[in-house]
Amino acid sequence: MALPGLVCANGHANSPERLACRLCAAPLSGPTRTVARPPLGAVAVSTGEGFVLDRTAVIGRRPRASRVSGSDVPQLITVPSPQQDISRSHLELRLEGWHVVALDLGTTNGTTLHREGYEPLRLRPREGVVLHDGDLLDLGDEVHLTYGEKS
Ligand SMILES: [Zn+2]
Repeated sequence: MALPGLVCANGHANSPERLACRLCAAPLSGPTRTVARPPLGAVAVSTGEGFVLDRTAVIGRRPRASRVSGSDVPQLITVPSPQQDISRSHLELRLEGWHVVALDLGTTNGTTLHREGYEPLRLRPREGVVLHDGDLLDLGDEVHLTYGEKS
C-alpha cells in the first residue's frame, strides 16, 4: 500500500504525524512523499511466538478471515485456549493508514487493553482502538499480546 509519509536520513518511512523516526529516532522534516507502507511493528505473544504487522492479523483459537478485501489477505494467528475462553476469531489487528487498530470481534469473554498510565480498558465489541507502542491486550486463558512499533 502506498501512502503519504516522511522518510528519515536512514531511509525509514514514517507517518507524517511523527517528529522523529520510530526506528532510529532521526528527526523528520521536509515535505511528505508517497511511500510504500512498511510493517507497522510487531506483536509478541505470551506463548513466546510473535508476528510482524505487515498486514491485518486475525487472532483466535481457530481464526478465520471473515472478509478478504483486495490485496490485504489477513494472516491468521492461532493461540492456545485450553479453557476455550478465547473465541475462535477473537481479535483483529488491522492496519489503517499508519495506525494499528485493535478490534474485538464480538467475543464472549472480551479483550482487555492494558496501557501504561491508564486503567485497564475492556474493548467494546467491534469498536476499533488505535494501539500505542507497548500496549498489552489480554485475550483470556493467560494469553496476551504485546504491541511494539519497532519491528
Ligand atoms: Zn530512521
